Amino acid sequence: MKGRLEIIIGPMYSGKTEELIRRITRRRIAKQSGLVFKPVVDTRDKSFVKSRAGTTIEAIPISKISDIFDFLEDGKNDFIAIDEIQFFDEPIYNILEDILNRGIDVISSGLNLDFKGEPFKSVEDLVIRADDITLLKAVCVVCGKDATRTQRMILKNGEWLPASKRDDVILIDGSIEGVKYEPRCRDCWKILD
Ligand code: ADP
Ligand code: MG
Ligand code: ZN
Repeated sequence: MKGRLEIIIGPMYSGKTEELIRRITRRRIAKQSGLVFKPVVDTRDKSFVKSRAGTTIEAIPISKISDIFDFLEDGKNDFIAIDEIQFFDEPIYNILEDILNRGIDVISSGLNLDFKGEPFKSVEDLVIRADDITLLKAVCVVCGKDATRTQRMILKNGEWLPASKRDDVILIDGSIEGVKYEPRCRDCWKILD
């Protein structure tokens, strides 16, 4: 039997990592064996995936999706999980299909949209081909409604302002002072020219 492809998407703070860990934990209770991967570009934590609610799980940092093949053992893996797939910013379905064809389930999670409101190539590539899609919502920090978008804020002269369309897409949360991300609904989400 071929593996199943699950994808969890949503803005920052929507609980993607929490949900990924929950699914991994359930599978381990069911005596399934699996490996967890994360992109090495995310410098927040080195060898584990951590949710903002505090739950953690061990993970292998990889720099490209095909690195997963170095860790697979014939017939031994029931599933693999990958967090933060938006950082592999290229179509990755072809590579994952190889894994699915070996009967291994793939559970993935990533940001639905970048701070400009544009999709990530890897995420959209998986969403349209997945067997199961979950869209999680955070709480809009401005109005409290469901948030489906991620707002980037920049500190300028002591004031937090929405980021501009011309800024780089990848800027890790907490890696640079003066940059922060907030979950926001469509009404409260803003981008400057
Ligand atoms: P993600 O991986 O999607 O960024 P996490 O799983 O790391 O999300 O964190 C989700 C947790 O973040 C929630 O369970 C909650 O405890 C916390 N949290 C803090 N601020 C918010 C917010 N504005 N909306 C939703 N959850 C929030
Ligand atoms: Mg996360
Ligand atoms: Zn709002």
